[in-house]
Formats: sequence, C-alpha cells, structure tokens
Amino acid sequence: MSNVGLIFHERFLQHDPGPSVVGTPPRPYPYLEPEAHVEHPRRVGRIKELLDQTGLTSKLRALPFEAASLDDVALFHTREYIDHVVQLSALDGYSDAGEGARLSRGSMEIALLAAGGACAAIDAVLDGSVARSYALVRPPGHHAVAHQGMGFCLFGNVAIAVKRALTRGTAQRVLVFDWDVHHGNGTQSAFYDDDRVLMVSLHQEGLYPERSGLLDEVGDGVGAGRTVNVPLPAGTGDAGYLATFERVVAPIARQFRPDLIVVSSGLDASRSDPLGRMMVTAGGFRALTRLTMSLADELCSGKLALVHEGGYSQSYAPLCGLAIIEELAGIDSGLADDLGGQARADRMRPAREVGLDVERALAEVIAIQGAYWQLGSAAAI
Ligand SMILES: [Zn+2]
Repeated sequence: MSNVGLIFHERFLQHDPGPSVVGTPPRPYPYLEPEAHVEHPRRVGRIKELLDQTGLTSKLRALPFEAASLDDVALFHTREYIDHVVQLSALDGYSDAGEGARLSRGSMEIALLAAGGACAAIDAVLDGSVARSYALVRPPGHHAVAHQGMGFCLFGNVAIAVKRALTRGTAQRVLVFDWDVHHGNGTQSAFYDDDRVLMVSLHQEGLYPERSGLLDEVGDGVGAGRTVNVPLPAGTGDAGYLATFERVVAPIARQFRPDLIVVSSGLDASRSDPLGRMMVTAGGFRALTRLTMSLADELCSGKLALVHEGGYSQSYAPLCGLAIIEELAGIDSGLADDLGGQARADRMRPAREVGLDVERALAEVIAIQGAYWQLGSAAAI
C-alpha cells in the first residue's frame, strides 16, 4: 500500500452532458449522425479501468469523501448561480448552466460530489493522512466562474477546495499549478486579488476561453504578480513543458514558498487530444509529475494534491493518467510507455527539443513576470 490517496466514485460517470452540439443556441450538428459529447464519462472511466487492470488501484488508499456542502460551494460561487444549477438539474432533458456547461437531471449532485472529492483530496494531504493524492473527478471545474458554468465545468472544484482550506486555516499559501491545455480562467478569477494563492496556468495560446490567460493578466491589488499565465504555442511538447517548469514554474514557486501545491491535472495537452495540439506524451506527464513532486518535497514537506480536469482522448489520456498516478505512487508498470509508443514519441522533435517559438513564449513570460519575481534571462534566440 502506497501513501497516495485516490478519490473516485462511480457517480462521476453518470453526469450526462448530452450529445455534441454546435452554435448558439446549441443544436446537434446538422446533417450528421449525432456524436457523443467529448466530455464523455468514458474519458474518466477508462482511466479508472486502467488503474484497476494494472493493479494500481489496490495500491492506492481510497479516500473517504462526501458531497461538498452548499456553503462550501458558496465560498466561490454566488447563491443565485447555485440555485440556478439546482433548478436546471431537476429538469428533464439537457440544459446549460452558462457557456458550454451542459447538464441533465442529477448533475447537481454529481458536481457537488466532484467538488467534495477535491476538498477531501486536499484535506487528506494537509492533515497528513496521505503524502499525495489524486482526485479523479468529473465534471471538471477550472473554467467555472462565480456566476456561471463554462467549458464543461459546473463548479470550480479546485477553487472551492482551496478557498475552504484557506478559510479553515489548514493552508496559508497555496500554489495552484494548472497544466490543463486550456486556461484555468475560473480558478484565476477566484484568487485574482488574493496574495495567498499563486495561480500558474500553462495553456495553449488562443484556445479556450478566447482572449483569456493572456500574459498581462498578472493579478490585481495585493494579488498583483500572483497570477502567472504561460500561453504556449501549439506543438510545445515534452521538452517545452519541462523547460517551462524549470525556467518559470519552479523559480517562482521557490520565491512564493507555498505550504501546499495543488495541480489542476488536465490531460488535454496530450499528443492525441481532439481539443489540444500540444504533443505532450505520457512520459512527458510522468516527468512533469516527478518535477512537481520534487518541488513539493523541497518547499512544503511534499504536500501535493492533483485534481482531474480535462483530457479528451479516450485512448491516450488514460495512459497519461496512469503515468501520473504511477509516478505519484513510485510504481512503473511500463504499460503506459509500451501502449503509448513512448520510444517512438521520444524520437520526435517536440519531445527532445525546445522550439524557437517556445523560447519566444518563455522570453515574453519572463519579461512580464520579471517585475514580480527574480527570473533568469531567457535563452538567446
Ligand atoms: Zn482543458
């Protein structure tokens, strides 16, 4: 038995966002056979199946958890929005809690369970029950803002859990490291003027939300410099992500000195994702996890909780999830590398080299964030 906690519940697979839709108001794709929504239960269910099949589940500690209370959710969301989700979730058919946050009957209870799972994953690390934890929750959370759902997210799981820990005084300074391929706009908004939370988001530039996660969004008031956005070019790959970690994430984290690190763990920067174009391999996620663990060891007695976000390749994302959780637990089945064609992927340029466009992106981040943090100069290009 490892000292890594896992949060999972079958109910997470019952949230049904309906068929894939386009346009405003949303309608099924015209002329075509209806397609499944990309935020499909299988994208999380298949990760859990792989953990089961490899025997990893039995080596993780199943953490007890319950639905988040409405008071906890209200630490971030408005009461009006919470009431709105309650009403929509009681209806037959599909509705939308904002912008692309579709739900159906019973989704409210499942979203509360996901938020509660994130809370429990963080609490278990903070109270020392486990060294590290992974909350394999659904629906995801990092796009939801205070007054509406966005981008498949109903409630801000990470924002709620971190606000709860800060309110209870179990954490004082939290690094939220969001490696989902999309900008963590909801989490950013939750802590934009809060100097207790350092929000670092690595995302593909210009993806979702539009005009969000820009370089000059750095935080406000006492939170100035506590928001670090790293928009990266398509095709960044393993080498670019690891360089970003070493040149931007780690030095800023060392100066911030968190007492807890929370990762918004989207797997949609993977090399096979239908919604992203970043070329990160399962081995890349494994390496990113290793670096984050060693940063947590260095800065905050190893306290590290990961909360699942996006990741839409039903074939490849499970291998990335497996690699991350294996690394957390110190176990390597080799399966993710074998099935993912890691050796071949490692020979591709994005796995080996930091592209010139990535160098340029990092130079821009360092130029902006240099006003708040001591950062090395960017490599000459
Ligand atoms: Zn995403």
